[in-house]
Amino acid sequence: MRRDDRLWLCTIITMGRIRWEPRDYVTLAYPITALYMNSRVTDQAPHCPCNSNQPYRTCCSRFLDRDEFAATAELLMRSRYTAYTLKREDYLLATWHRSTRPASLDLANASQHWLGLTIKRHEQSNPDQAIVEFIARHKINGRAFLLHEISRFVREQNRWFYVDGDILSD
Ligand SMILES: [Zn+2]
Repeated sequence: MRRDDRLWLCTIITMGRIRWEPRDYVTLAYPITALYMNSRVTDQAPHCPCNSNQPYRTCCSRFLDRDEFAATAELLMRSRYTAYTLKREDYLLATWHRSTRPASLDLANASQHWLGLTIKRHEQSNPDQAIVEFIARHKINGRAFLLHEISRFVREQNRWFYVDGDILSD
């Protein structure tokens, strides 16, 4: 039984045992309404970390958890940002082009806390090459940082890969 269901059950049992005055129902209406609204909020799917305003399950989860390939470099960029927030090193390495891929990222020990992503530009110069300019905000030990980067992507056998990027100093 979920916590909310247990609370409801307790409320119903308690209400059956007490002789209620009309004003008691009014007093009770507020916390019960708040409890109900709260349970509605927690039932909603969480938004994807990539700031697409979509639920994670219909956004980056398609690529991180269900082996779909991102159709554009921008979608790959978003999914890689989400992978950083979730410390999904496996996905980051799998979507990194073999010519520049590091052996490991050691994300398990990374102290970065990612706060949000803004895509500034997505340009595809030909069917198999694209750049994505983005700003990613993060904190390290309580200090806020901006990562402003232009990333390069290539497509091979219908799959986009991250190649490398130029970090811009704002
Ligand atoms: Zn996403």
